[in-house]
Amino acid sequence: MPQIISLLGSTGSIGTQALDVISGYPDEFMVDVLTAGNNAGLLIKQAKQFHPRAVVIGNKAHLDNLKYGLRNTGIKAYAGDEELEHVISDSESGVVLAAIVGYSGLKPVIAAIKSGKNVALANKETLVVAGDIITRLLSKKGTSLVPVDSEHSAIFQCLIGEEHDSIEKITLTASGGPFLNMSIDNLKKVKPADALRHPNWSMGDKITIDSATMMNKGLEVIEAKWLFDLRPDQISVTIHPQSIIHSFVHFRDGSVKAQLGMPDMRVPILYALTHPRRFATELPRLDFREYRSFTFSEPDMKKFRSLSLAFMALDEGGNKPCILNAANETAVRAFLSGEIGFLQIPETVEYALENNLYLAAPDLEALEVSDKQARDTARKYINKLKKRK
Ligand code: NAD
Ligand code: MG
Repeated sequence: MPQIISLLGSTGSIGTQALDVISGYPDEFMVDVLTAGNNAGLLIKQAKQFHPRAVVIGNKAHLDNLKYGLRNTGIKAYAGDEELEHVISDSESGVVLAAIVGYSGLKPVIAAIKSGKNVALANKETLVVAGDIITRLLSKKGTSLVPVDSEHSAIFQCLIGEEHDSIEKITLTASGGPFLNMSIDNLKKVKPADALRHPNWSMGDKITIDSATMMNKGLEVIEAKWLFDLRPDQISVTIHPQSIIHSFVHFRDGSVKAQLGMPDMRVPILYALTHPRRFATELPRLDFREYRSFTFSEPDMKKFRSLSLAFMALDEGGNKPCILNAANETAVRAFLSGEIGFLQIPETVEYALENNLYLAAPDLEALEVSDKQARDTARKYINKLKKRK
């Protein structure tokens, strides 16, 4: 029987790579639902190729276009956040690939778990914001959540067959992004186009900026805490610009495991869909002889302030990671639209962390309020920065 899959965010970088992978195994996978935020044109094209039962577009203004594009196909078309949750809950998929970017991805993931689906998780913001709620929901429902993020996929693979007590710590590798060796003075002058050029990975714009500020690694540290049930002091980060070693697990007997491969997201995406099996691929192979050295260095926490803010938010817990994420999403958008400078991204996040009420054990409703308030605080601070310009 083929595996039935639904894709949240099928038109994005992860979504399109997932469909590319899926198209190679027509007997193994069937697509039940495809969803997008705004790109109705690509969603129509994907639906005609993969014949899902239903498609959902986030922005209701595109529903007529979507319906028109899919007339006479028998594919149902819906729009809006609520419909998205209904369609995912009602779908017959065994696995839901969560590849929406940002906080918007949280509720559809909750709907998927509540309706008993297994999740392949690319949307790290879900665990950053609501890791506690998601992990409790997963154990209540008995469903699984397998990481797509390459570092977490590496750790997940290293932990197969191991006992949790055996883990001493983990090390997440980071490429360091395009500004690894740039001075703070030059970082002030960085433009969106510079930050959008990542040396090793081609990704959506938000995660690409997060990689340049190293907030991406900060979010991944928090993501790792929840995925692998670790204390903050068990998670460290090393800069490995070659992006070949995807992460390490250090065990209590002194042994270390790592997972390696070419930097190609199609590998961890496929693994999240097929685990514990591995499907054969024709993807580029790693040849050690092409690498003269693998290097490792400590991240510069002063230069990459976002990373240290994420560690602080993780330590404090409660709604701090939610505030961190909301302010970061707001600041990244403001940087991309030319409103603020590159170093003002962490500055805005820090301001929001210091100027929002701390809640030790927020429920989902409280997190929603925290998210909105942190966005407001960040927006007000950005407006102040703009006046200063
Ligand atoms: P992207 O911007 O390329 O794609 C985002 C997708 O989400 C698109 O299909 C978009 O239409 C949809 N979307 C956006 N806002 C929405 C909304 N409000 N409602 C419904 N749909 C919406 O992003 P991406 O690079 O594919 O990243 C997706 C997620 O995967 C992010 O959380 C990112 O951190 C994570 N991730 C990405 C990569 C990568 O290589 N791109 C690697 C690891 C993890
Ligand atoms: Mg990653």
